[in-house]
Amino acid sequence: MSIQESIHEFNDRLKGSNCQLIAVSKTHPVELIREAYAAGQRAFGENKAQEMTAKSPELPEDVEWHMIGHLQTNKVKYIASFVHMIQSVDSFKLLQEINKQAAKHNRVINCLLQFYIAEEETKFGLSLEEAQQLLRSQEFKTLENVRICGVMGVATNTDSEEELQHEFRTLRHIFDTLKQEFFAQQDDFKEISMGMSSDYQLAIAEGSTMIRVGSAIFGNRNYTTTPSNS
Ligand SMILES: *Cc1c(COP(=O)(O)O)cnc(C)c1O
Repeated sequence: MSIQESIHEFNDRLKGSNCQLIAVSKTHPVELIREAYAAGQRAFGENKAQEMTAKSPELPEDVEWHMIGHLQTNKVKYIASFVHMIQSVDSFKLLQEINKQAAKHNRVINCLLQFYIAEEETKFGLSLEEAQQLLRSQEFKTLENVRICGVMGVATNTDSEEELQHEFRTLRHIFDTLKQEFFAQQDDFKEISMGMSSDYQLAIAEGSTMIRVGSAIFGNRNYTTTPSNS
């Protein structure tokens, strides 16, 4: 299936639902992103600041760039002027830096809090308790250039539907808890970003509002260099 065809197929599938497609374009060249753009796709996910910064000027301005990978604080400045949403906020220090860089550009940057829901040791993210502590703090209340729009999680890489369902339900529960405790009056707090190529159907069934799909659209990723954190 071509990129255009798979974008159309996802759009058909999601039509009338409360769920949006984020096309994960990491490692793929801008030519392929343009194909998806031509099919009407506007939201793209990248996991490295440098890669996003390099691609963004090559594409139309109405592309919405979503940072979905672990972001080091010293890299925030590269994307602060244009990034649409940072989905991978996993510490207060990072949130403070996003706020600081957003202020420099007179912007409010949309953020999702990333939660640790997987079995695997390597996944980044907060626990519910850490997030509650963060959101209760006085320092958080002083941040005027970030907007917390919801939660994000990466499930375990497993075939077990039971395990995946459990993890998606955990994230849904975290969302509901935070919504009730901190964001009941804030309509902006509405996103549950979960589901990837292999598990998006299950994620949608469990209430995902953003599926992050890469290989099912762009094909397999070919890492020619060792992926590094950024
Ligand atoms: C790469 C990536 C995806 C997309 O993965 P696919 O399996 O290619 O759909 C989704 N979320 C995050 C955080 C990623 O890093």
